[in-house]
This record gives sequence, structure tokens and C-alpha cells, in this order.
Amino acid sequence: MEVGVLAIQGDFAEHIAVLGKLGVKAQEVRLPAQLASVDAIIIPGGESTTLSRLMTLYDLREPLEQMAAEGRAIWGTCAGMIMLSREITEQDPIPLGIMDIGVQRNAFGRQVDSFEQDLDVSVLGPDPFHAIFIRAPVIIRVGDGVEILSTLDANRPVAVQQGNLLATSFHPELTYDYRFHSYFLELAGGDGKSCGFRNGSR
Ligand code: GLN
Repeated sequence: MEVGVLAIQGDFAEHIAVLGKLGVKAQEVRLPAQLASVDAIIIPGGESTTLSRLMTLYDLREPLEQMAAEGRAIWGTCAGMIMLSREITEQDPIPLGIMDIGVQRNAFGRQVDSFEQDLDVSVLGPDPFHAIFIRAPVIIRVGDGVEILSTLDANRPVAVQQGNLLATSFHPELTYDYRFHSYFLELAGGDGKSCGFRNGSR
């Protein structure tokens, strides 16, 4: 299985390092042609306004939409999640619109308001997942086919899945807990059955 990490901006190197720990040699993806040869891709955190401009400039939008439509797995973390969303509360950036969620950027405030919190994520097992939120977005609308994997303070979704698509407001690649990456690899390698999903529905 070939796993790519979009390497145009943001913390792609950290994702590649975690995948390496899991025995997967991930590809850095910068060009549309490179997307054709990967089975799954991670869109990292960073700055979504920059990601959006570069995706347009490098003609990556259409092939990413195509990947999602073909059922290949895509995971967006933080700014990557913003890019996957169908709509955001502002005019800019322009998301890809491939995941049926609405997102608010910088929902907790500025850089100094970044924080860490243990989350319950039942698909990862009973142990809490230590989540790092950096100028993080929250999900303010969840479509019918979208499963909420974890919420903050019992009401704000921060990890969601829609069939082959995964999104997290926080940064699993900045911890030593590799369970989210393992979960994504499982999703990428199979048909999603192990996650209770097939083609976006239970
Ligand atoms: N606040 C950033 C944005 O809106 C996301 C921050 C992050 O990815 N850690 O793009």
C-alpha cells in the first residue's frame, strides 16, 4: 500500500515520521501526478489559507476530489480538516468540499489559546487519546453520513469519519500515540468494514 502525505505546506514531516515508526514509507506528494500512485493521503495541519492557494496553483483540487470519489482514504488534520470540509464560516480559504461537515476556523482563539486535552475515542480503544489543539478549528455541522468519533466537552465534534474520509481538529502526529495513524492505515487498506462503515453508511 502506498501512502502519501501532502507536502506543500504544514507539518507533513511529522506525519511521515509517525508512519515510518509504523513501518510505512510514506511518499511526499506535491504534484497531481504523484496523487495517482497513492492509495491514501494525509493533508497535514498548517495554514489553510496557504494550503488553499497552493492547491489551486498546483492543480491539486480536482485530483483530490477524484481520490475521495474513488473511495481512496483521505485524512485531514487541523488545517487539513478545514480543507476537506464542505463549508467554513468565512469566505477564505476555499475548502475542497469533499466531506459533509461545516467548520469554524480558529474556534478557540489565537496561538496562545492553544491547548492539550485527553479525549475519549472509542474506535481507538478504552485509553484516552492525548490531543494537541493548535489554533484549532471545530466542526459546527455534521452531515447525515458522518460519524462523530470524538467530541470535546461532550458537545463539540473534533474527530469525524465519513466512509473513507477522516478528519481531526487536533494533531496526532505531534504525540507518541500512533493509534490514529494505525486507524487511518486500516481504513486505507481495507473497505472500512472494521470501522463499521462501508461507503459512508453503516
Ligand atoms: N488556524 C489554522 C488555519 O486556519 C490551522 C492551524 C493548524 O493546522 N494547526 O488554517
